[in-house]
Amino acid sequence: MRYDVVIIGGAIVGSSIAYYLREEGFSGSIALVERDPQFAHAATTLSCASIRQQFSIPENIRLSQFTLKLFRRLTEEFGPDADIGFREGGYLILAGENGLPILKANHETQLAEGADIVLEDAEALVRRFPWLSAEGITAGAYGRTGEGWFDAHAMLMLFRKALRQKNIEFITADVTGIERQGDRVIGVGLDNGERLEAGIVVNAAGPNAGKVSAMAGLALPVEPRKRNVFIFEAREKYDDMPLLVDPSGIYVRPEGSVYITGGAEPEEGDGPADASDFEPDWPLFEEVIWPVLATRIPAFEAIKPTRAWAGHYDYNTLDQNAVIGPHPQVENFLFANGFSGHGLQQAPAVGKALAELIVHGGFRTVDCAAFGYSRVAEGRAFRELNVI
Ligand SMILES: Cc1cc2nc3c(=O)[nH]c(=O)nc-3n(C[C@H](O)[C@H](O)[C@H](O)COP(=O)(O)OP(=O)(O)OC[C@H]3O[C@@H](n4cnc5c(N)ncnc54)[C@H](O)[C@@H]3O)c2cc1C
Repeated sequence: MRYDVVIIGGAIVGSSIAYYLREEGFSGSIALVERDPQFAHAATTLSCASIRQQFSIPENIRLSQFTLKLFRRLTEEFGPDADIGFREGGYLILAGENGLPILKANHETQLAEGADIVLEDAEALVRRFPWLSAEGITAGAYGRTGEGWFDAHAMLMLFRKALRQKNIEFITADVTGIERQGDRVIGVGLDNGERLEAGIVVNAAGPNAGKVSAMAGLALPVEPRKRNVFIFEAREKYDDMPLLVDPSGIYVRPEGSVYITGGAEPEEGDGPADASDFEPDWPLFEEVIWPVLATRIPAFEAIKPTRAWAGHYDYNTLDQNAVIGPHPQVENFLFANGFSGHGLQQAPAVGKALAELIVHGGFRTVDCAAFGYSRVAEGRAFRELNVI
């Protein structure tokens, strides 16, 4: 079996690449290989499904803006029934005195990219959101439009459904090996003993991307990092509540009639997760999250946690940013990895970018050159400061 393009990983990034390859007119054969077709452990389906413009570097803002445009014309792209429940509730990123210079610098970058973000002092924020306590807060950046949350599973299903009409070979298998001949990858081996010959191999393996790259003998600093998300109920309902990020890193947002929260993992000791560990760390809610929430939103003194889940970030240990494009020596091995907590919202743009690279030989819509692998080879960080 030979395919012009073999994509390893069929969640949002892999599916988006396959989708845009066809949209860009690619007529060669495409195999999308996925080992977990229910996506039970994919970052995509375990994510918090939020989209923002509040990044520190323009390139990340541009990737999210591509997706935002897609969300706003979803039915044109995917048909009249397309709905991912996009709610443009905004982000509110808070800073104390120490965080203010970075918040201001980020805000200027975001404005220069046309993002609808306002920077307000503590007093104005409390006027805007009377449920908020400004204790320890100097200012906050609020996305009036262009930021919010959606249903990640519905988004994945939109792409997967669209692929059914696009002549894609869906293969359910675990890729266990990648064959190299000098500076080319020539095929992938599967756990069922089969072998797929490949013209191009794309790594879309999410948190497992480092291991998949290693199969081709290529180093990629991406590893799974466990992140816990808790659901709680509260008596008070705040319909105007954005996704609020406290200076401590704890975030909270409404999810229908309940709330979700997370961001409590301590930096110290944060390391690669056991690939099979999806057990929520409940003490983080009681000991770290709840005291922060009760201070920031006094009405959250009385809340009831009801459920929790844990997923794995596709964490780039070099600079918490994506690696996009070919390996400089092994040019037919392409990366779409290391999104470090913001890959769901970037997936459509990245799919489009890689498709343009494969079909036209260069980026046309969003220039992803800054995300290239050469910085990994040189150990040169291209750091995103707003990792939530
Ligand atoms: C708790 C949490 C919250 C998040 N919140 C957000 C958010 O609010 N906004 C946002 O934009 N992003 C968020 N993210 C990040 C986002 O979910 C990821 O960056 C994104 O989903 C990555 O998509 P992916 O397709 O690359 O990876 P995944 O969804 O993990 O998919 C990779 C797929 O590859 C398959 N695979 C791996 N190895 C192999 C192999 N050897 N053979 C075959 N198949 C293989 C896996 O089974 C998996 O289905 C969050 C992540 C987590 C964990």
